Amino acid sequence: MSLLVVGTVAFDAIETPFGKTDKIVGGAASYIALAASYFHKDISLVSVVGDDFPQDFLNILKNKGTKLDGLQIKKGEKSFFWAGKYHNDLNSRDTLETQLNVLEKFDPIVPENAKQVDFLMLGNLVPAVQQKVISQMTKRPKLIVLDTMNFWMDIALDDLKTTLTMVDVLTINDSEARQLSGEYSLVKAAQKILKMGPSVLVIKKGEHGALLFNKEEVFFAPALPLEDVYDPTGAGDSFAGGFIGYLAKTKDVSFENMKRAIIFGSAMASFTVEKFGTERLIDLSANDIEERVQEFVDLVQFDISLV
Ligand code: AMP
Repeated sequence: MSLLVVGTVAFDAIETPFGKTDKIVGGAASYIALAASYFHKDISLVSVVGDDFPQDFLNILKNKGTKLDGLQIKKGEKSFFWAGKYHNDLNSRDTLETQLNVLEKFDPIVPENAKQVDFLMLGNLVPAVQQKVISQMTKRPKLIVLDTMNFWMDIALDDLKTTLTMVDVLTINDSEARQLSGEYSLVKAAQKILKMGPSVLVIKKGEHGALLFNKEEVFFAPALPLEDVYDPTGAGDSFAGGFIGYLAKTKDVSFENMKRAIIFGSAMASFTVEKFGTERLIDLSANDIEERVQEFVDLVQFDISLV
């Protein structure tokens, strides 16, 4: 079952307590497509870059099975640029700079062969652009997953609320869930957000794992305690890529299967943070992923008797 990924393909400059990078390749859709490619090979990308973006990275995406017909390359323009600095605990960060550049006038065009996909992953992007993508689909996808961030809550909340009415699953982090709902308790926040449109909500809590809610149930996936964490950038997107890639692979969008999908998502995020940028996501093997998922299973498995 085919998967369409939409989001930024970008340059990032990152500062963490362990080092600093100049412009490196990033962008929500880059991480999503890379992470999803380990589960699913029929991926299309809709995004935009300037002619300053390295062809080498586009070749990597292509070689991993992502079709780039929906990627617009704007002559004489600059790619989206984001700079961020992480605090000492790596769970929170400040955005130092956001240069929209090509994103400012981005008009997404979904290629004909991607208008009937079963899975649509709307990565972090201008909410109005996310809507434009949905409106070009000629068949309602089986599952639409939306990711967003505080930046869009600050400057485009009304558009974001409209986008929320059009999707099935929302993935956001805990502070964004609090901002969107106005509730401190994540349980109350989830109740409110599930009334805004999505029937499933994933709240990502960085090194503290992720919560999966529908109206009746809640499920928790831990994050793996890792020895080496260098750069959390893209963890949320890698999570989303693993999540939707696994769902597309298994063709099952039940809540039970989403529980498994958030474990695969968490596994992909755990790889991303081990190196700066997208580096760690480029050369994984099926065995690496299997072993990592087993570590998650071992982490939470215990025998207990309630009598
Ligand atoms: P994450 O760490 O998973 O939240 O995502 C980090 C990625 O999001 C970076 O690679 C950035 O290029 C991208 N990004 C940062 N700000 C924005 C924004 N306002 N809109 C879209 N993508 C963004």
